[in-house]
Amino acid sequence: MAKRDFYEVLGCQKGADEGALKSAYRKLAMQFHPDRNPGNEEAEHKFKEINEAYDTLKDPQKRAAYDRFGHAAFENGGGPRGGPGFGPEFASSMSDIFEDIFGDFMGGGGRRGGGGGGGAARMRGSDLRYNLEISLEESFDGRTVEIDVPTLSTCETCDGSGAKPGTGTHTCRQCNGHGKVRAAQGFFTIERTCPVCQGRGVMMDQPCTDCGGQGRRQQNRKLSVDVPQGIEDGTRIRLANEGEAGLRGGPPGDLYIFVSIKPHELFQRDGADLYARVPISMTTAALGGEFEVPTLDQSRAKVKVPTGTQPGQRVRLKGKGMPVLRSKDVGDLYVQLDIETPQNLSKRQRELLEEFARLETDETSPNSGGFFDKLKKMFEA
Ligand code: ZN
Ligand code: ZN
Repeated sequence: MAKRDFYEVLGCQKGADEGALKSAYRKLAMQFHPDRNPGNEEAEHKFKEINEAYDTLKDPQKRAAYDRFGHAAFENGGGPRGGPGFGPEFASSMSDIFEDIFGDFMGGGGRRGGGGGGGAARMRGSDLRYNLEISLEESFDGRTVEIDVPTLSTCETCDGSGAKPGTGTHTCRQCNGHGKVRAAQGFFTIERTCPVCQGRGVMMDQPCTDCGGQGRRQQNRKLSVDVPQGIEDGTRIRLANEGEAGLRGGPPGDLYIFVSIKPHELFQRDGADLYARVPISMTTAALGGEFEVPTLDQSRAKVKVPTGTQPGQRVRLKGKGMPVLRSKDVGDLYVQLDIETPQNLSKRQRELLEEFARLETDETSPNSGGFFDKLKKMFEA
């Protein structure tokens, strides 16, 4: 039986806009819907014809192909692969041109089910990204985080198939069950996966009413994520198959957790090592001393200030840093000592410092003494 022109099927002009096509489709689909015409084979045939026409024309790329090549754009000619006179190699080099013309509908990327009978195309679900911000303490301890992910989950009514339970399937009209269609451009004929049934050769008779034939539904999923000890800022955790459910029973995507770590008040991190800057008084620096810093394991660590500590000098506290991911190693904590010059001196303090200054020697300030000697020589030269 010769196939009717898709525009004719929908009762539209060739140049009709999207809105006109959609309303014509809706009107006809309501009229010939199998639920309204039980047992009427002619209505069923019309309903399928309407869906096929609209499925093609609602997609701008398919429509362009149809306008250009007519039904031949999607037909399976049944002849030898690659067309007469052309080997498969030549055919494959031509396929780039066809990618341009047909775009992503060949790969299924642009397909969004929904309306009416729908295709039987299965599609992998999208990968999802979830941003998780944790504290440095949480990275230190490692923990299980409960997250709430808005996603598309497999429809329980149809178990992801997209077909209304109890209804059957029929041979794909586009490819007559071959799963392949041939597209002609001038002399060339290229065989492709059928865009309507995505190569399966069968179509569902009626879509599942709960998911509209998608096989998946919008839901919030609760998941617990194991954040390992020592995880670093910017780490990506992949949870395989926890992304969006596939379209009509297609495989699910993956979920990627992007972990970022909040800046800490005291510690900066570099790999497994931690750095902290602690101001100490000039006298502590000169005379030496001791103080305590809090550590990430909720205890304290003693920092010994050596006598004669210079500005910026670091004290290393071994094993007080971060745990190394998937290892028993632990980094170190470096405490940088920032020496504070005394301000707002009382009269007595000033006297004492002046007295100290008179007693200063090259021994007590070896660097500055030597430096000014050097300057002196430069001026004299
Ligand atoms: Zn369903
Ligand atoms: Zn097909």
